[in-house]
Amino acid sequence: MLIAGAGMAGLVCAARARELGLAPALIEKGTRPGGSMLLSSCVIWRHREWDDFRADCPGGDEALQRLIWERLDDALAWLESLGAEPVWRDTENPRTTGRRYAPRALTELLARDVRLETPLPADAEPPLVLATGGYPVRLAQQRGLLLRANPWSDGAGLELARARGAELSSGLDEFYGRAMPAPPARIREEDYVRLAQLYGSEARVLTDDGRDITPPSLAWHENDLAQLIGPSAWYVVEHTNERIEAARAAGATVRQRDDGRLAVHVAAGVTHTIGGLRVDTRARVAGLEGIYAAGVDAGGVATGGYASGLAQALVLGLAAAEDLAAG
Ligand SMILES: Cc1cc2nc3c(=O)[nH]c(=O)nc-3n(C[C@H](O)[C@H](O)[C@H](O)COP(=O)(O)OP(=O)(O)OC[C@H]3O[C@@H](n4cnc5c(N)ncnc54)[C@H](O)[C@@H]3O)c2cc1C
Repeated sequence: MLIAGAGMAGLVCAARARELGLAPALIEKGTRPGGSMLLSSCVIWRHREWDDFRADCPGGDEALQRLIWERLDDALAWLESLGAEPVWRDTENPRTTGRRYAPRALTELLARDVRLETPLPADAEPPLVLATGGYPVRLAQQRGLLLRANPWSDGAGLELARARGAELSSGLDEFYGRAMPAPPARIREEDYVRLAQLYGSEARVLTDDGRDITPPSLAWHENDLAQLIGPSAWYVVEHTNERIEAARAAGATVRQRDDGRLAVHVAAGVTHTIGGLRVDTRARVAGLEGIYAAGVDAGGVATGGYASGLAQALVLGLAAAEDLAAG
């Protein structure tokens, strides 16, 4: 059994597979385990109410959403059974519930026998779990957007499965992302969380040629705004705030306008892709025998909105291991 990708989904799948008596080989293209999870805020969450999940992600696959929504609490308890210590026992958002972990400690707890700098071979045979983290690198390059993810997830899992006739999910053009300070700001991986320009609800949004594209309403997560702004836009606000000052210190363009307001140059940063391989509730890729996709290599969970990528990775990683162990 081969698992490709030692991010959240791959690490979880390997740990559960070992627990169930399997001997998985876990390969990782990058120079370290942890994937985008290591860079994340590491809040693993679900909507408190099922109807809110459906309303927030209306184009998503209902069966997968149901699986994640119903299994997440047990999955978090499983993580704790391995020794994972939450740093928060709940989210700070009344609409959601979950746990927050320290990403480095979680990675260290889960990462065992990872073969680093070993990319997924194109001729890999089943049983195979694809957990390569979707295609944020490729999507960012194609659209001229910033990358706000690990630098290795360029769609290898998707390509391998597609070449063998796999079915794809909805949402292939969509991403979860954040407005980030536009170049020439220098953004290091460790600043991905701190430099997110998350005050869109207070901003007018202008294009480079001054057209006002402020949407009439905004989702609480502002992911819709990240889709809208693309590679270059301006947030115009009355007053500065901590995030603007952090952006300014990183070299972002922040202008004082004639009307006294501030204009901050922003660009969308791609955190993960929302579309991917179509899977069933046992994480099996539709149309292929013995090939699974976990994490954001699986697609169509949050189409039309935003949901926790880490919850998707945790639940589908467990589902893949359990299905393989069941034979
Ligand atoms: C700044 C930031 C903040 C975030 N905050 C949150 C949050 O609070 N809550 C939340 O739910 N989500 C959050 N996310 C998103 C979350 O981190 C991802 O959705 C999640 O990590 C996806 O898990 P995954 O296992 O599918 O992918 P990843 O964790 O990215 O792992 C994929 C792994 O596959 C490896 N890989 C790629 N290609 C190959 C290949 N060819 N062969 C072998 N290995 C390969 C990669 O190197 C990587 O290690 C955040 C992300 C970022 C960057």
